[in-house]
Amino acid sequence: MIEISKFYLTTAIPYVNAAPHIGHALEFVQTDAIARYHRLLGNDVALVTGADENSLKNVHAAEAKGISTAQLCEQNAEIFKQLAEKIGLSYTDFLRTSIKESHWPGVNRLWELLAKSGDIYKKKYTGLYCVGCESFYEESELPEGVCPEHNKKPEIVEEENYFFKLSRYQDELESLIETNELQVLPETRKNEVLSFIRSGLQDFSISRSVARAKGWGVPVPGDESQIQYVWLDALGTYLTGIGYGTNEEKFKKYWPADVHVIGKGILRFHAVYWPAFLLSAGLALPKTIFVHGYITVEGQKMSKSIGNIVDPFSLIEKYGSDPLRYYFLSEVPTFADGDFSEKLLIEKNNNELAANIGNLVNRTMVFLTNNYAGEIPKAEPSDSENTFLDSQKAQIEKITSLLDELKLKEAMENIMAFSSNANKFFQDQEPWKKIKEGKEKAAPSLYVLINQVKDLAILLAPFLPNTSASIFKQLGTEPQIWEELGILSINAGHRLGKPEILFKKL
Ligand SMILES: [Zn+2]
Repeated sequence: MIEISKFYLTTAIPYVNAAPHIGHALEFVQTDAIARYHRLLGNDVALVTGADENSLKNVHAAEAKGISTAQLCEQNAEIFKQLAEKIGLSYTDFLRTSIKESHWPGVNRLWELLAKSGDIYKKKYTGLYCVGCESFYEESELPEGVCPEHNKKPEIVEEENYFFKLSRYQDELESLIETNELQVLPETRKNEVLSFIRSGLQDFSISRSVARAKGWGVPVPGDESQIQYVWLDALGTYLTGIGYGTNEEKFKKYWPADVHVIGKGILRFHAVYWPAFLLSAGLALPKTIFVHGYITVEGQKMSKSIGNIVDPFSLIEKYGSDPLRYYFLSEVPTFADGDFSEKLLIEKNNNELAANIGNLVNRTMVFLTNNYAGEIPKAEPSDSENTFLDSQKAQIEKITSLLDELKLKEAMENIMAFSSNANKFFQDQEPWKKIKEGKEKAAPSLYVLINQVKDLAILLAPFLPNTSASIFKQLGTEPQIWEELGILSINAGHRLGKPEILFKKL
């Protein structure tokens, strides 16, 4: 088990020029499962999310809508915040990058530290710029002349800007990533970053003219004619979200980040630019960059033109947040692309959540309610019951180490196996037959089973928080922490709450 008292993780800070899609929901759920797990370990968790508002795309989107950029950002940030809340992202700070008081002092300090290291210089240049990515591309990176993320022709931009000496950090970055001092998960993404670094790192522009930025963004300290590169400012959120520049005590407590959760499309910014900025500023590096894939819908890439954009709000409205969380955590590979299908979500709700978890909880609760008036009987587990409990403890150990390795999907699958094992135990013990020979005959297996239900509620808490809370309520106990797994803590005389159906069949 990881022994630390603080744990700091982040989602990527999404652009708010368009509405959130299920890719954002996936990232929120993955990040949240890690956060909740660490809270259950007893760690003091900070989770920063927010809105990247200083992008030129927001200026364009606001122009198209005929409202001010500030208005657009405020409206759209609110929608992201609502999604975070509806899907259960247990964030501690939601940081909006256009809010001067909380964000700008920290990013200005970061700029000043880079300048102090001698890593910033002015240069005139011409480049190919994709506004969608907010990034320059080399011609060699655009095999068909279009941005691979946006399928659009980049603009030709000619300006005098400030540059960052990324080239200076090539060797250091290579070695930090190679040795996993800066861990990039999964291995395929680590290799992708290493090969990008080995191909040669070029210095890059970290500002643009006020005119090109249309006056929107964080000005360069000491040069009002330039606006800071939006990625420099957005990445800075990971610092300012925990008080960098505004609350030193808080910042010192949580930095460095333990995990940055990101999508594969922004790997370079997080695994190359970001650690280089931090090295230059003399700040500690994050420990792990967790890279998830993209979601297709019924096998197709989501796009406005196909009309298959799935709205996460309507899914939550229709099915509740836990079935959607379960889909993301059990069906989408943690570190690779996955597919979304509403039909499969319904099947998984019925055949996995209701048939496995719902069944175990309900049959155990109902049996104890009907036969023992909801009061846990006095019982001593026999050898065969202890053998079962030992194998379930081994299963708990396995789930714990999978979570420590951030293997969310495998952990979720093993929680389902834990629940299936308990269902099989119920079936094998045949308490409905034993009860005919007397209440004391069926008591040991029921005593074991109700404690299995309690363990299941703990195991599910990072993944399906509402389900977990409902099980604890039915058990008539307070929510418990990870340390209490495997302990027979629901004892003789305890009175259960009322049995409730956990998952409706759809
Ligand atoms: Zn692009």
